[in-house]
Amino acid sequence: MNRSQVKRRDTISEDIPATRATGARAAFDVPARLAAQIDMAHVDTWVFDLDNTLYPADCDLWPKIDQRITTFIVDLLGLDGMSSRALQKYYYKQYGTTLRGLMEDHAVSADEFLAFVHDIDRSSLLPNPSLAAAIAALPGRKLILTNGSREHALRTAEALGLDAMFEDIFDIVDAEFVPKPERVTYQRFFDRHGVDPKTSAMFEDIERNLVIPHEKGMATALIVPKPGQRDHREPFEIATSEDLPHVDYMISDLEEFLRDIADLFGSSTPKGGRTID
Ligand SMILES: [Mg+2]
Repeated sequence: MNRSQVKRRDTISEDIPATRATGARAAFDVPARLAAQIDMAHVDTWVFDLDNTLYPADCDLWPKIDQRITTFIVDLLGLDGMSSRALQKYYYKQYGTTLRGLMEDHAVSADEFLAFVHDIDRSSLLPNPSLAAAIAALPGRKLILTNGSREHALRTAEALGLDAMFEDIFDIVDAEFVPKPERVTYQRFFDRHGVDPKTSAMFEDIERNLVIPHEKGMATALIVPKPGQRDHREPFEIATSEDLPHVDYMISDLEEFLRDIADLFGSSTPKGGRTID
């Protein structure tokens, strides 16, 4: 049976390799679980991160945005590439987004920054009808909660053929430029969209972004790379421990996991799914 690779935190027993070699991070090697063991029958609202969640971490999309951010800093401050890169990563780690650091220290225009960094070629992103079908099979509301911009989320979801799947997007502007994992951002999201965290689930590729959702009662799923899969995220963003009490499920195949969830509701679709109208 080709089930998603899933594990509950209380069933983990494997040693987890987390070394970085030749640009690829070894992934969690997790056992298969039966769909019946997934405790999400109470969930009626499905919340998805965007980048490296709705498309895989080895996609070249995020490095393009990352490079545009560096270029923005080069142009803004007249620094060389290496210095700009170092400042960018400092801001990202310190503030959660580079934008917030630039706003705090350099009064950068958010609109200008977001338009510049998301002006990228998305032609490498192909429609993913099987993921669309898996999302469509989930009963209830579906929302995107991203530290990026609405425009970026819309264009990316459109390229993936997922734009019709979601009720709305909560972006960094809606968050008043305070990014996940800040507590206030989740509360703004819950309030804006009338989301009850106790009947919601969240899917994310960055484990620290699941701390508050879990505390609020959301079911939490962390997406980890498949073994050998390249990963463009920052080292500090990637879970290197199995001691993650805020993570209910670790998965390496979002589509499979969503199909398993849909099985709970008797609404699953076959692999390959229908195409999106
Ligand atoms: Mg992400």
